Amino acid sequence: MQAELISIGTELLLGEILDTNAQYLAARLPALGIDLFYTSKVGDNMDRLTEVIERAWGRSDLVLTTGGLGPTEDDLTREAIARVLGEESSVDPELERQLREFFAQRSATMPERNLKQAMLIPSSRAIPNPRGTAPGWWVERQGHIIVAMPGPPSEMQRMWEREVAPELERRTAGQRTVLVTRTLKTMGIGEGHVDELVSPLLKSTNPSIGVYARPDGVQLRIAAKASSREEAQRLMQPLEEEMRRILGDAVWGADDDTLESAIGDLLQRNHLTLATMESCTGGLLANTITNVPGSSAYFRSGLVAYNAETKIAWGVDPEIIAQYGAISAECARDMARAVRERLNADVGVGITGVAGPDPEEEKPPGTIHVGFDAAFTVPQHVSYQFAQGREAVKRRAVTTALALTRRVLLESKGHEPV
Ligand code: AMP
Ligand code: MG
Repeated sequence: MQAELISIGTELLLGEILDTNAQYLAARLPALGIDLFYTSKVGDNMDRLTEVIERAWGRSDLVLTTGGLGPTEDDLTREAIARVLGEESSVDPELERQLREFFAQRSATMPERNLKQAMLIPSSRAIPNPRGTAPGWWVERQGHIIVAMPGPPSEMQRMWEREVAPELERRTAGQRTVLVTRTLKTMGIGEGHVDELVSPLLKSTNPSIGVYARPDGVQLRIAAKASSREEAQRLMQPLEEEMRRILGDAVWGADDDTLESAIGDLLQRNHLTLATMESCTGGLLANTITNVPGSSAYFRSGLVAYNAETKIAWGVDPEIIAQYGAISAECARDMARAVRERLNADVGVGITGVAGPDPEEEKPPGTIHVGFDAAFTVPQHVSYQFAQGREAVKRRAVTTALALTRRVLLESKGHEPV
């Protein structure tokens, strides 16, 4: 099955929002054995939208669209599909009832504009969307399919997972070659070195192996083609085992794992709690740690100590700041100690530095010091300079803090094999 994606909305063309819907869908088609040959972005303009849909309908078995299903005048996807197929739209009574109920449940009257969300053409059926007012459209004629999904990512993703993907999976069963991938995530080894270590495996073609540098470390992607997911997984397994053997503790997770979830697991397995004191990252570390569901089991609290006075008020030794400055490895380590003691945690992490763009204390922008403190090991720190803009500096500092925490925990506490 050959597919094409169309992302609809003028805001995409103006660069106001990023086309994450196309990224989301493109990443999920290979596992269904569906080849993606084209993706387009088009604005909310009837003529151009019709042109793009018409071309897609003519050359692809499956057209997936997102956006343009809203109630407003510039949401034109249904109208454009009807025009391409030369079919009349009419209000579906059952859809209208559901739509009115949606508004009634929220004690609101339905604007008459919304009625167009209850429209169907003879070749379309509605795809349920409990997260919003716009149902999707499943359109099918002469062996071609158009699936129109809403623009808001949470609505689109639910519709894809619950409705569209299962249906496509049924359709392609038995006649497809699926591509299944597995990503191993590493830390602490450079891209070139990882490549060298796994080079005996790189010759393999099915599964194939790719090495990629990402902000949170080097990733290895194993990709296998087979007639079923199980078969692909069977092909990949020995390779994954061999890679894990070669790379050892450098592998911190796989696929959707995040560094923060890996650390959460490590802390929980060792029955340890964590507290943080942040300066230049302004709470980004605490935010990242608490993005993991259930993090309250090990995360005590995070303090944002943005100036020297606050650091001292929360227990950082004023002598250290006087002697080394607030932007120093000594201060980062003492922030870790102070917050650990103050919040009665097992592990403390401190971050100080210069997010930029201007220097501070005569230290250049991008200077970062991350400190680690725990009763079970000596205080440690990582210091470096990374001048890539304020946001990137903060993000990198958080990644460094998580990586340092992981490394120390593994060295001093060990872990059961993942
Ligand atoms: P629409 O269904 O066209 O009214 O889109 C509603 C909202 O969904 C837009 O304002 C965006 O916030 C979001 N959205 C639409 N298309 C995309 C896309 N391709 N990627 C990410 N978000 C999108
Ligand atoms: Mg729109």
